[in-house]
Amino acid sequence: MFQENTAFNTAFSAEAENGYDESRRHFINHAGRGLLAVGVASALPIAAAEAHKAAEAAAPPATGPLDIKLPPLEAPTDPKGADPFNPDAPDRRVGYALVGLGHLTLNEILPAFGKSKHAKPVALVSGDADKMAKVAKQYGIKASSCYSYQTYDKIKDNPEVEVIYIVLPNSMHHEFTLRGAKAGKHILCEKPMANSVKECEEMIEACKKAGKKLMIAYRIQYEPLNRQVQKLVRDKTYGATKMLQMMNTQNQAHDQQWRHKKALAGGGSLPDVGLYCLNTTRFLLGEEPTEVSAQIYSTSGDDRFKEIEENVSFTLRFPSGVISQCMTGYGSFNNKSYTVYAETGSIEMDPAFPYHGLHQERIHAPDGKQMKETPNDPGKDQFALEMDHMAECVRQNKTPYTPGEEGLQDQRIMEAIYQSARENRPVKLPAVAKIDAFRGEAPKDEA
Ligand code: NAD
Repeated sequence: MFQENTAFNTAFSAEAENGYDESRRHFINHAGRGLLAVGVASALPIAAAEAHKAAEAAAPPATGPLDIKLPPLEAPTDPKGADPFNPDAPDRRVGYALVGLGHLTLNEILPAFGKSKHAKPVALVSGDADKMAKVAKQYGIKASSCYSYQTYDKIKDNPEVEVIYIVLPNSMHHEFTLRGAKAGKHILCEKPMANSVKECEEMIEACKKAGKKLMIAYRIQYEPLNRQVQKLVRDKTYGATKMLQMMNTQNQAHDQQWRHKKALAGGGSLPDVGLYCLNTTRFLLGEEPTEVSAQIYSTSGDDRFKEIEENVSFTLRFPSGVISQCMTGYGSFNNKSYTVYAETGSIEMDPAFPYHGLHQERIHAPDGKQMKETPNDPGKDQFALEMDHMAECVRQNKTPYTPGEEGLQDQRIMEAIYQSARENRPVKLPAVAKIDAFRGEAPKDEA
């Protein structure tokens, strides 16, 4: 994957620096759906390249991935193999700038471009010039496309950048979204969207004013096994859903920097991992809660929880009568699971929220005999899926499935959760009649 990334970025940099080479681009588009083809193209003798160009001239212009079909490898009775991977040619992809080079960017997002079909990394923004130079070299990003937090606004002059992906501490999402929108770029912002309803509203307004898209990176809403659960719930495959139980806990390292500072993180376990319980419940049901009740408890004497909360237990009530009971914590062993309890069956996701290795189990009794089904995890890269969705929204001028309004609604509910715990009483929320009220068009589920 690393080699692929380097190959296509190097090809890109070379192309941009040498001027636009139409015949080479044409060949790459047609022969080079695999990134390896970039190397082949540059090695091709000129006469052969010209002959190839003439042959290809009759073909329709490249408009993205090539339609390549291979015969099946397995009999239909065997488990299905991997889906075909048919990415856009490099010059068709949407260019991303990554802001913040921490754990998530280096360990998940940058590697995910190797599995992306429509996105490519073209710029970096960091406060650490040495680290940025190393990462730029690793991913073939030009030195002229590397910015500090101070020179970030100059990104407006970089036509390769179409989307800015903000992966900074929570308190910085607001400022970097406003500046990014002002620079005329679309924004993909990590969760939680910001630290207050007011900040979320300003981010939506800034992107609207600039005529740019704003998407919140709720990767679970793009992940196939969780999307299957949504379909089972919405189709009432096991009858009406009655209850959900969600859990997202992890034991935080003691030297966790900004996550334990209220001003930077906005809160503790709730806006970080607890948000998965809230957002996934809303995603599965499509409804909005009308009441929340919550309790907060932090272990006394633990220096991690001086400014922020450790544990939150909250219950969401929905107009259909469904209840979702959620628990989140920063001081107990990793558990990232949920169960949907419906009339004639239950669906368990355990784990549900990590980046890889998700597992789903459905239990029902169609003929009076209890049956367990465990669908295969297609093992898709969640970050590639969400970045590809944003890229398609940019290319096709669509509202993202998880736009700023989705992040704002979560922020409203989180503020009600804090209020409920503070005042030790249930807190009502405004009724929202529409299903999927804050979402854009759903991504297409692949075969
Ligand atoms: P991190 O601490 O590993 O990285 C944060 C980056 O921001 C670092 O490169 C750091 O140098 C930089 N930074 C700039 N100003 C800073 C400041 N004042 N204090 C601290 N760091 C500063 O964090 P991360 O885990 O990469 O998280 C970044 C964002 O991504 C957060 O909003 C987090 O909620 C989100 N996140 C999302 C997921 C997901 O699955 N979608 C997973 C992890 C993190």
